[in-house]
Amino acid sequence: MAAPGKLLMLENFIDGKFLPCNSYIDSYDPSTGEVYCKVPNSGKEEIEAAVQAARAAFPGWSSKSPQERAQVLTRLADLLEQSLEELAQAESKDQGKTLTMARTVDIPRAVQNFRFFASSVLHHTTECTQMDHLGCLHYTVRTPVGIAGLISPWNLPLYLLTWKMAPAIAAGNTVVAKPSELTSVTAWMLCKLLDKAGVPPGVINIVFGAGPRAGEALVSHPEVPLISFTGSQPTAERITQLSAPHCKKLSLELGGKNPAIIFEDANLEECVPTTIRSSFANQGEICLCTSRIFVQKSIYSEFLKKFVEATRKWKVGIPSDPSACMGALISKEHLEKVRGYIKRAHAEGAHILCGEGIDNLNLPARNQAGYFMLPTVITDIKDESCCMKEEIFGPVTCVVPFESEEEVIRRANGVKYGLAATVWSSNVGRIHRVAKKLQSGLVWTNCWLIRELNLPFGGMKSSGIGREGAKDSHDFFTEIKTITVKHE
Ligand code: NAD
Repeated sequence: MAAPGKLLMLENFIDGKFLPCNSYIDSYDPSTGEVYCKVPNSGKEEIEAAVQAARAAFPGWSSKSPQERAQVLTRLADLLEQSLEELAQAESKDQGKTLTMARTVDIPRAVQNFRFFASSVLHHTTECTQMDHLGCLHYTVRTPVGIAGLISPWNLPLYLLTWKMAPAIAAGNTVVAKPSELTSVTAWMLCKLLDKAGVPPGVINIVFGAGPRAGEALVSHPEVPLISFTGSQPTAERITQLSAPHCKKLSLELGGKNPAIIFEDANLEECVPTTIRSSFANQGEICLCTSRIFVQKSIYSEFLKKFVEATRKWKVGIPSDPSACMGALISKEHLEKVRGYIKRAHAEGAHILCGEGIDNLNLPARNQAGYFMLPTVITDIKDESCCMKEEIFGPVTCVVPFESEEEVIRRANGVKYGLAATVWSSNVGRIHRVAKKLQSGLVWTNCWLIRELNLPFGGMKSSGIGREGAKDSHDFFTEIKTITVKHE
């Protein structure tokens, strides 16, 4: 890490070496608005070098046994864990999230990603279908695809990068990764641990830079047969277009407009604090965050009162403040975009129940230019409003009433996204009925964000294509082959 006040200069990591770049992009500390580090502004040349390194490393890495690869992943997890505090400090400074969140969620999950896929790959590589038929033994094998292109977003930087990287290398692929240019620091720190963990040069290459330059160069590269992408729907559209001429294998994990459906028999003692968290955790910058809350009419007023009271207590503060629930948004542009949604809702006649008064936060002088806003609740808003249809990806949630089960399912499904829904009820039959009818890749009932990593993760409709998770990730990062051996 750089000394306080000194700019971090990141370098690409290609073939086991840190390499400078010809030009750099400024990356900001969202809690101060000051430049925090310089990120390589890589393009075709750097991607080409990384692909060559990944190509050269592939034969050696892919011919290692799954056990050998799993040992490397486990060592990497141990090293990350030893650097947890340093990584958490960097993630919080780079992204604007609270240090508590980085310490308890982001970095521990990055550690877990390597441990989890080290263990699951051993199980999945032993899976094989075989049949003796027509005088032949037919069986299947899975082989790594080759060079995996990984593109990750800024909201959970190391967490989401490693969620792709760990299964990719566990399955025997080599990797060229491009993290978000807004949050590149922890990926660069990870590179410093690779040699010690026993990752051979060229197995993991990280090229930093902007989407339209470095990202497109990676997606368009003919020797990268597979792209695992997490990010926004418009970028996914572009990636799909660029991949089409090469028929690339794509995994697309995209945005959401996630509903919480609260029936009159819900336990509000649990529902209110969980829905606060699901709406505002990580500044609302999680693809799984709730942004449309449908409440049954008979409990609408009671819920709204409790929800607004609890929102006012959701403390916004500088990321290092241990009592802060929410830090700063990722960038000035994003803050303006989120505020723009609130202004549009207001102009349409909706009511903004809380979210005003950022001046009362008493932020230290150094943080006055940070990208802070208060959690915001919008009511009296129509389903057709952009705030009810588009992904805002900030601490803004809409609360609206509904009358019947059938009606709320129709309205919840009435957007282009289908990532994560939450249903609150004490009626078991209703829970199953509603969960089954929701167009959503994930449905939590009476809880939120409890994850079993073995099970599929991903969205329907414009929320993506494909699933991630133990078997799903392994399937994606491998090709299946049927072999027939004549023996009669
Ligand atoms: P984004 O699409 O702007 O950027 C994501 C990544 O793609 C970045 O690394 C960026 O540099 C790169 N990129 C941008 N343009 C590119 C191009 N033309 N070609 C190749 N790469 C390009 O998304 P973001 O703003 O970083 O992240 C927020 C979005 O990510 C939200 O929509 C959120 O819902 C989504 N997200 C989804 C999940 C999920 O698991 N479904 C998880 C986290 C975030």
